[in-house]
Amino acid sequence: MEHIANIVTADLDVARIRKDFPILQQQVHGKPLVYLDNGATTQKPQVVIDTESRYYEEYNSNVHRGVHRLSQVATDAYEKARHIVAGYINAAHSHEVIFTKGTTDAINLVANTFSRRFLKAGDSVIISAMEHHSNIVPWQIACEESGATLKVIPINEKGELRMDTFEAMLDDTVKIVAVTYVSNTMGTINPVQDIITLAHARNIPVLLDAAQAVQHISIDVQALKPDFLAFSGHKIYGPTGTGVLYGTTEWLNKLPPYQGGGDMIKTVTFAKTIYNELPYKFEAGTPHIAGAIGLGAAIQYLQQTGIEKIQQWEEQLLAYALEQLRGIDGIRFIGDAAHRSGAISFLVHNIHPFDMGELLDQQGIAVRTGHHCTEPLMDLFQIPGTVRASLSFYNTTEEIDKLVAGIRRAASMLL
Ligand code: PLP
Repeated sequence: MEHIANIVTADLDVARIRKDFPILQQQVHGKPLVYLDNGATTQKPQVVIDTESRYYEEYNSNVHRGVHRLSQVATDAYEKARHIVAGYINAAHSHEVIFTKGTTDAINLVANTFSRRFLKAGDSVIISAMEHHSNIVPWQIACEESGATLKVIPINEKGELRMDTFEAMLDDTVKIVAVTYVSNTMGTINPVQDIITLAHARNIPVLLDAAQAVQHISIDVQALKPDFLAFSGHKIYGPTGTGVLYGTTEWLNKLPPYQGGGDMIKTVTFAKTIYNELPYKFEAGTPHIAGAIGLGAAIQYLQQTGIEKIQQWEEQLLAYALEQLRGIDGIRFIGDAAHRSGAISFLVHNIHPFDMGELLDQQGIAVRTGHHCTEPLMDLFQIPGTVRASLSFYNTTEEIDKLVAGIRRAASMLL
């Protein structure tokens, strides 16, 4: 790994990129911030911050409602953001992009409306053992209320899905498969293409939780063909409180509305309401206008930087991090998949993750500790939680070296 320069990689000028993120310039506890909690949320480039404040400073107004100038400017910017998102994931139509509050909101939308229309007693829903709570609980609620059964694809000791078991699980009772593209805890990249192909062979729709994928991996929904795909704006360098549900026109038209209110209607009388067309049918009420526009700016920033270059650098950084971390005495990785991205979970000897996290924080290093909203996965590994370092393209090998030194220092104090 000596060929990896600290800052300037062959294709990505990380030093220049870091200057785009004002928050990265600060010190924490007197040390330069080493931000390795990107799986929880990513930092925002200046252009996203400026785009959001420009909305409030220059054209704050409600969308789709006014004939006045500001409302038209806001509507155009909001709809442009939808086009940018559609282009980024290569959706066939921009009306297949529904703005939501985040991944959780997007999955709840599908679980709620799908179960109301399509689930009944005797049916089943398939998720996997490595799901985030937000791709477990909405389906549990859906199953509880419809009488359907929740089934879980098991994983092997490396944290990879057991695809043979998955295939065997696909019987006539299965009405939908909802799995994560990338595990937020272990970084496993799931074979989503195979999952979709197998499910579609039985006419079963697939929802992909792309919360940890879309910022690391180039996704073409027309090639991959998920029926639904959910992600959060704040994990892809955009504002908090924003997110996306992509759905095919066919499936979105089959689902009933989620929430009722303004914008999702064509006409309302006390006798009957005619719902609006896509995407507005699923966007009741005033949306997070500034946030959606900011998300568009974030995606444009990624596109200008180059998602392939980002992917390449993050792969090198991950390989470097794994190699360096492996040298730490007593380290145990949780998840060791052949294909992975983004997150590395580990424990060192019997040190509690919180203690490790606190001592790293004192050295200016931000990592996540705990169950990472994957409690069933923690139960499988019979651990209370992990320390998780999660990477972004603005991280450097120098920061990885600081993490490794920080862990060694913390371990020497705690053991
Ligand atoms: N799914 C995965 C894989 C995640 O990592 C997360 C957040 O960590 C979520 C869903 C939920 O995202 P949000 O809290 O932004 O709705």
